[in-house]
Amino acid sequence: MMLEEAEARLKDVRMPAYYRRYQQDILKKVHENYQHALKARRRGIDAADIVEPKIAYDLADRVAKMHEIEIADRLRALLAATTKEKAALKIAEEIAAGEYGSGDLKTRLDNAVRVSLAVVTEGVTIAPLQGISDVTIKNNADGSQYLSVAFAGPIRSAGGTEAALTMLIADHVRKVAGLAKYIANSFDDETGRFVEELRIYEREVMGFQFKVLDEDVIKCISNLPVELDGVDTDPVEVVGHKSMRRITTDRVRGGALRVMNDGLIGRSRKLLKIVETLKLDGWGWLQDLKGAIQTGDDDAAQHRMSEVITGRPVLSMAKKIGGFRLRYGRCFNTGFATVGIHPAVPALLNYAIVAGTQIKMDMPGKASTIALVDTLEAPIVRLDDGRVMPVHTVEQAEKVRLKVAKILYLGDMLISYGDFLENNAQLPPASYVEEIWAQQLRSKLQTTTADVDRAKLAHLAENPLIPPSIEEAFAISKLGLPLHPKYSFYWDTISLDETLYLKDRLADEMPHDARLKDILERLGVAHSITNDRIRPENDQIIPLKKLLGGPAVEARDALEFVSKSSGVLVMTKFASTIAVRVGRPEKAAERKMKPPVHVLFPVGPKGGATRDILKACKEDSFYTEIANRYCDNCKMVSIGTHCRTCGASTMLRNLCIQCRGQVEEGEKCARCGKEGRTFSSVSYPLKAAIEQARKKLGVVPTEPFKGVKSLMSRHRSAEPLEKGILRQKHGLHAFKDGTIRFDATNEPLTHFKPKWIAVSIEKLQEMGYTRDYTGKELTSPEQIVELMMQDVIIPRDAAQHLVNTAKFIDEELAKLYELEPFYNISSVDDLAGHLVVG
Ligand SMILES: [Zn+2]
Ligand SMILES: [Zn+2]
Repeated sequence: MMLEEAEARLKDVRMPAYYRRYQQDILKKVHENYQHALKARRRGIDAADIVEPKIAYDLADRVAKMHEIEIADRLRALLAATTKEKAALKIAEEIAAGEYGSGDLKTRLDNAVRVSLAVVTEGVTIAPLQGISDVTIKNNADGSQYLSVAFAGPIRSAGGTEAALTMLIADHVRKVAGLAKYIANSFDDETGRFVEELRIYEREVMGFQFKVLDEDVIKCISNLPVELDGVDTDPVEVVGHKSMRRITTDRVRGGALRVMNDGLIGRSRKLLKIVETLKLDGWGWLQDLKGAIQTGDDDAAQHRMSEVITGRPVLSMAKKIGGFRLRYGRCFNTGFATVGIHPAVPALLNYAIVAGTQIKMDMPGKASTIALVDTLEAPIVRLDDGRVMPVHTVEQAEKVRLKVAKILYLGDMLISYGDFLENNAQLPPASYVEEIWAQQLRSKLQTTTADVDRAKLAHLAENPLIPPSIEEAFAISKLGLPLHPKYSFYWDTISLDETLYLKDRLADEMPHDARLKDILERLGVAHSITNDRIRPENDQIIPLKKLLGGPAVEARDALEFVSKSSGVLVMTKFASTIAVRVGRPEKAAERKMKPPVHVLFPVGPKGGATRDILKACKEDSFYTEIANRYCDNCKMVSIGTHCRTCGASTMLRNLCIQCRGQVEEGEKCARCGKEGRTFSSVSYPLKAAIEQARKKLGVVPTEPFKGVKSLMSRHRSAEPLEKGILRQKHGLHAFKDGTIRFDATNEPLTHFKPKWIAVSIEKLQEMGYTRDYTGKELTSPEQIVELMMQDVIIPRDAAQHLVNTAKFIDEELAKLYELEPFYNISSVDDLAGHLVVG
């Protein structure tokens, strides 16, 4: 059924045929995975007999399943017809009006607010479930009823505009429900409280994205038609505005402050536009707010660079020569806040950064991830012996890195235009690079009447990575084109005086004087020192002579001088620098709990520091706090939903904490008036359970066999011990939700070559990769192929971890659940084509 539903949904989506096959293949596999997991769960061995993750096929499905309201079809129709914002408003209105049933007014309003937030955040954040702590109906001083929305810390995941939009929609449903407006300062100085609370939060906890004025806070809170409230998020108290009637905590409410600061005030301009498109009344006051106060982007960036942390070095400073040169563009593996640097750089920097490192930067955004792109301008270094050279390859970098005295230029940082657009950042000047030259050549070819080798020039124009020879470059510049950047130097970095100084001494061999050497180093001229003479490399001295060999001319700076004197237009080769500091180091490792855990089974104090279950079971009596599941036939505690011995159902019981009698959910014990709980401390036959598990699996656990001190889940549901024994055998650990995880940094990738990823052509074809990016049949590992949208290429370590995990799952399926194994994998190569959740 699931499969048909999905295919029906895909039917109307327009896509190429190979996308459709690919999507159908994924759906089929999801179905197979799900069904197999369900078979295992139906055995009743676990604390749940269903597969917990729900499957949703689109935004409407996702939102409906998150909130368990039957709105999927209606929401889908709305989303198809209008914008997210309008759909959210409409569905909220309908929920509030009771069109989908679901309870009293409070419940309906609560659902309306959460669902609308889920719609505008596309159902992919925890904000609707955990960022809104409560939606309630409260009273003003005059007795009128109003709506109050309380936010919690996780509202952060929603983003400022979306969080603030929740307040707009809450106001709309308030009107639908016929509630009055919230009247600020009905009982206490609530506006003053917000001002004090915001400043304390900024000082003691952390700053927000925007800086806002006190007067804006007062205006905002006193005009809000719905109360903005929140739960306390940090152990920091206000001083002057305590014990208030409507604000029940004296601590700071980070969620509420964020919605006000980064949302209502910080995004007031954007919200006004939304208010207009949604035709909402009562929000005109937003235009009286001053909004986000620009603290000056430069200052913020400066600040970012000055917060130096030990072990997180600053690699490049703004407006300093030699730092990363901004290059606009994108490669297979960059874009979307991932920037490219030359692959030789990590080795030269002693691996302070590698592919995947998070960096902080001054522009375009705050942070990016590093990727390596080998077609960028290479770094230039000075060695111990005075030699200056570009480092073009990783091998070369490895060879010279211990001899590097100074890195003169770090080379390029490739940043996509989209990153500037996304961050609304100004575009700094572009350096003159090969691809710009090639474009100029292309347009020149269309207009010039000069007698040139058109085929040759067209080839150069179409292939910016293939440079012309020195002679060709200078010949082409006669067409009125700037000099090709490969034969240009960093003229901006030297003065006119220095240019003349160099011009006077320029020769194949020059005196080794410090001033001259410094000039050459700043220009980026590769040279060596022999017999105390400076010798520029051949491919450097020729263009230098051509550029400096002309007559002395009047000029304002070096760039103008060489252009005028040589008659060849020379462009700025280094226009903008990106400031970079190492943020978070790259990580790709198993995600473990601290301390690591084999099985979610509570050993209490008996396991010692390592929570060792084998140690705990040596004791004669063992008590532990677990869920109230019990088999009446066998008189035995059970972990699973069914008895392991007789198969009878072991319903989770809510028992009185005093007399252990059955208590109805939400009620008190009829006999003692005490509340009930779904878990209790019971005597558990741990030794026998271990022995039984060992026999069942034929695997002996070794010390330390790590459980947890106590369980944290609502019902204190434990895992069967067998799972832990098998995890230990396969060198794996459980995360707190019972999953096995591997952490790695996300990076974009649009294309790949089969030879880069160690997957055979046959396997790729089987997976649907039949053609390369130009549409030619895929036959060679050198062809460039589009990476399909749901596919990931993972590190080898991650793949090995997944192999171990697959083996664990198979053994668990066979021995614990007595089912067919699923993966049947023996090596990393068998892994390609399987589904992962990430
Ligand atoms: Zn039983
Ligand atoms: Zn009782």
